[in-house]
Amino acid sequence: MALIVQKYGGSSVADAESIKRVAKRIVETRKGGNEVVVAVSAMGDTTDELLDLAHDVTPIPAPRELDMLLTAGERISMALLAMAIRSMGYDARSFTGSQAGMITDAQHGAARIVDVTPGRIRDALDEGAIAIVAGFQGFNRDTKDITTLGRGGSDTTAVALAAALNAEICEIYTDVDGVFTADPRVVPMARKIDRITSEEMLELAAAGAKVLYIRAVEYARRHGVTLHVRSSFNNNEGTLVLHENAARAAKQEDGSTVEEPIIAGVATDLSEAKITVVGVPDVPGKAAQIFKIVAKTDANVDMIVQNVSAASTGLTDISFTLPKSEGQRVLTALKAEQGDVGFQNLQYDDQIGKLALVGAGMRTNSGVSAKLFEALYEAGINIEMISTSEIRISVVTRADSVNEAARVVHRAFGLDGDATAIVYAGTGR
Ligand code: ADP
Ligand code: ASP
Ligand code: MG
Repeated sequence: MALIVQKYGGSSVADAESIKRVAKRIVETRKGGNEVVVAVSAMGDTTDELLDLAHDVTPIPAPRELDMLLTAGERISMALLAMAIRSMGYDARSFTGSQAGMITDAQHGAARIVDVTPGRIRDALDEGAIAIVAGFQGFNRDTKDITTLGRGGSDTTAVALAAALNAEICEIYTDVDGVFTADPRVVPMARKIDRITSEEMLELAAAGAKVLYIRAVEYARRHGVTLHVRSSFNNNEGTLVLHENAARAAKQEDGSTVEEPIIAGVATDLSEAKITVVGVPDVPGKAAQIFKIVAKTDANVDMIVQNVSAASTGLTDISFTLPKSEGQRVLTALKAEQGDVGFQNLQYDDQIGKLALVGAGMRTNSGVSAKLFEALYEAGINIEMISTSEIRISVVTRADSVNEAARVVHRAFGLDGDATAIVYAGTGR
């Protein structure tokens, strides 16, 4: 008997009808002779709606209370799903994150899983029941408080359960057929990828491909969990996310001699802003001073660019990108130390978009950047910042041209498919 972990995202359980449809799928898997553990997200856009509600009450909600509020979303869906399954004559029990043993650190809003003690889940399975676990939530042993794992965190719940219970596979059910070469809502000609390495998936997730939460991919990679991302609206094969070694072995088993594509995909991100520290004295130690201040705010800095200093003034500008949600915090911290650092002023730009091109083949192929820049040039899109890693090139453009940039780059690298990709549900929020 195989143990299968399934995760259903918000768009797959958006209303009562969808919950019944998902219940049927779960029962089918159980009937197939498998043990089934399900991680479920909040219905539809519930989490966003609860967040809006909190901000209607206060501009800066207390983190502990915000987590308490947000975890209510998954409590609703888990109980409804268990009820629906029971009404079909199968035993199902719902569990909150803490009941399921999802032990985290104390970081409200972005807690990390530090231990998983799924005793009650194991017991439920042993008694023949289907276990339904609320995604996205955990419990801290020191504070004894409820935590959330960050937006998209139900993916991590599923992966952590799969690892702890030694599941055969972790299936991530969503509103598209798998991982595509780009977000199908942005690039309609995006193609489904059959197999992707977790290394490439990590880069895509980090660059904004929200089909999988980056921490879930990291967790899966660390614990050797195989992910199968697929649609909850049909029975099509989705995308397998495999460790490089497993991907190589699977390829050999297939007898496939097809060359791996150089580029795995394109991702866009509109959630970042750019801060420019203007008029920084061009002497050793200034960058260290600035980024020490930024580091103290716990902000996640992404790209950094320093301009050449103007010879006449001996001053330079340093720009960096970071999540918009962290922008004000960092500006305040820098402003407070302006005298000490000696810069002239700060500029804040939240109208930027980031485009990333990802592919392990970049390691061994030259000319990828030239082709990327050429495609953007031909479309008349200006590049404001550039950064590269071993298997990724990212550029910053104006926010309103980043989607067009994704489409032209996708085409230029020959990634366009033959037909328009299907998005089955969801508001894209
Ligand atoms: P769920 O509610 O199931 O967790 P999400 O909204 O978090 O679903 O993730 C699915 C969405 O991710 C898709 O509807 C799609 O718009 C978006 N997406 C972004 N990049 C990609 C990609 N490369 N492949 C597939 N989907 C992507
Ligand atoms: N409901 C949470 C969110 O919207 C967690 C998840 O769906 O993965 O971020
Ligand atoms: Mg998600």
